[in-house]
Amino acid sequence: MGEKKSRNAGGSEAPNHQCLRCGSKCCDYFALPIDEPEDRKDFDDIRWYLLHEGVSVFVEDGNWYIQIDNRCKALTTEGLCEIYEDRPRICRKYKDDVCEFAVPDGEYELLLQTTEECMAYAEKVLGKKAKKAKKNRKKK
Ligand code: SF4
Ligand code: SF4
Repeated sequence: MGEKKSRNAGGSEAPNHQCLRCGSKCCDYFALPIDEPEDRKDFDDIRWYLLHEGVSVFVEDGNWYIQIDNRCKALTTEGLCEIYEDRPRICRKYKDDVCEFAVPDGEYELLLQTTEECMAYAEKVLGKKAKKAKKNRKKK
């Protein structure tokens, strides 16, 4: 996943029955890359993202993303793209090999959906970092 979108429901080259069956998954949200959080301030920023409805943060292939669940305005109630011929570049780039219906996503390396999950993860990571730094100081 990453910079996303879409297809015929969706965005492949020809009307695609698969898109009609899947419920237009890839037109219901978008995800953008973010920097990996390194300190409390960064995690607090992620906490702020997660305070908003429909927002989650996930890690895939070591890369961090923010996901915003928000249906595309061009998606019709029948699940078709109203502007298919003129759909944005990102939708045109979306191919079968990344279609979430044809190739379902595996488990996320990390999925943060709530502020509690975010802060628990922050404690774990920052705690480990602090211990490591302390150990290194002792060695010197
Ligand atoms: S996730 Fe795949 S099947 Fe579903 S609308 Fe997008 S391209 Fe079509
Ligand atoms: S413009 Fe909207 S409805 Fe059309 S393919 Fe892209 S995300 Fe889907």
